Amino acid sequence: MECSECGKELREDERGITWRECSFCGKPVCLDCIRYVAVKRKGIYKEFVDTIPVCKNCTPEKRLSDKLAKIVDEVLGIDL
Ligand SMILES: [Zn+2]
Ligand SMILES: [Zn+2]
Repeated sequence: MECSECGKELREDERGITWRECSFCGKPVCLDCIRYVAVKRKGIYKEFVDTIPVCKNCTPEKRLSDKLAKIVDEVLGIDL
């Protein structure tokens, strides 16, 4: 497998060490290319900010952040 952006070779067993999956499209992205976006999540007592790894194609515009947070909740289904 390879980084979906720079084409660098990645090893499956080094997931989380040299590469991560985009939270949206699931493509492998090396740590040199990965981006992180901050999203608001609703916890039981308060909202908190979480960061999720995304690839270049899925990097959201700032104005979409609210929409993104909804998508994240739907995709990941995390309800802390
Ligand atoms: Zn890369
Ligand atoms: Zn992506």
